[in-house]
Amino acid sequence: MKMKESMDCAEQLLLKTYNRYQVVFDHGDGIKLFDTDGNEYLDFFAGIAVQGLGYNYKGVNEALKAQADKLWHISNYFYNEPVIDAGQKLLKISQMEKVFFTNSGTEAIEGAIKIAKKYGTKTGKRFEIIAMEGSFHGRSLGALSVTGNEHYREDFYPLIPGIKFAKYNDIESVKNLVSDKTCAIILETVQGEGGIHPAAKEFLTGIKKLTDEHDLILILDEIQCGMGRTGQYFAWQEYGIKPDVMTVAKALGNGVPIGAFLTSGKASGVLKPGDHGSTYGGNPLVCAVASKVLDIFTKDDITGNVKTVGDYLKKSLEELAKSYPFIKEVRGKGLLLGMEFDRPVADIIKSALIDEKLVLINAGSNVLRFIPPLIISKYNVDDALERLKRVLDKF
Ligand SMILES: *Cc1c(COP(=O)(O)O)cnc(C)c1O
Repeated sequence: MKMKESMDCAEQLLLKTYNRYQVVFDHGDGIKLFDTDGNEYLDFFAGIAVQGLGYNYKGVNEALKAQADKLWHISNYFYNEPVIDAGQKLLKISQMEKVFFTNSGTEAIEGAIKIAKKYGTKTGKRFEIIAMEGSFHGRSLGALSVTGNEHYREDFYPLIPGIKFAKYNDIESVKNLVSDKTCAIILETVQGEGGIHPAAKEFLTGIKKLTDEHDLILILDEIQCGMGRTGQYFAWQEYGIKPDVMTVAKALGNGVPIGAFLTSGKASGVLKPGDHGSTYGGNPLVCAVASKVLDIFTKDDITGNVKTVGDYLKKSLEELAKSYPFIKEVRGKGLLLGMEFDRPVADIIKSALIDEKLVLINAGSNVLRFIPPLIISKYNVDDALERLKRVLDKF
């Protein structure tokens, strides 16, 4: 029982900010994971939508190894080629104008908030930001300030002032909050942690109109829903609008710590030398990997696979839902799908993991979340659903 010993040891030394599942993972291959006792798992979680290309995807490990023998880090006081490569490719697929690389999604949000604040300051003492109920943008104090989940916030007040929360997919509730002090609106194009809620077309276009009319910065958080997850490179690309600032992370590095905020139009010239920085951000090691990931996205038509297999997974889940009265709804886009139950799903997740070796996660207490690597096949979907059926039959 190697796993049991490791887990006991971990509980002795790691701060208990997570209730971990009872598995110690050792390595991955394709869309399979292996624990230290040698058991094999089917991964429908992808390290929270991070391993878009799964494990050992051709070329990615090689890119990391090649850069490891050249240069890991040099700081932003100098130029390096991987950051240029990664930047060019990211701007190309996003049609944005400028990029700042960070080490995480949270830091990308911090950068986006700083642009909003500075733009507001420069255009007339405006500092209020409208965020959404049910949103998730990260755990640092800035990102937490725009996160609409009281459970995460309650012990950390006062947070940054001037943040107001509107109802997601309710344009009137956003309009009601706009004042002459508002400088920005921030939202996820598809709410992830909040339970997999895609923005309605009229809602997002309505927000775009509002931000244009009132000269606000529109920040779209694509950290979870971007990088191919919904079948577009970025989820907003099917809405016929464009944000002023977009944040990305998660699948961008396929597991190396990297994020970015990207700007267009009026947001591009806001930050000046000295306004923002990062020691590691944009370092050659992580950028060499991100650059390779971005190559693969275009070369191997990852978004094409997401569209086909995502539709298939959604239809299969809808079909399966018919057999179980405790399933209320299936929703989402591409390979960012949620299945809502009339009860908490924690026990379903545990049973899937331990009894069926299927790795799943929740999104809020009652929603089962399906965020597999973007490279899965229809065969993998059938396999996962067979396992899930056996779990649900027990409930
Ligand atoms: C994960 C996530 C974040 C935070 O990213 P980290 O890399 O954990 O800092 C922010 N916004 C959204 C939508 C996310 O899913």
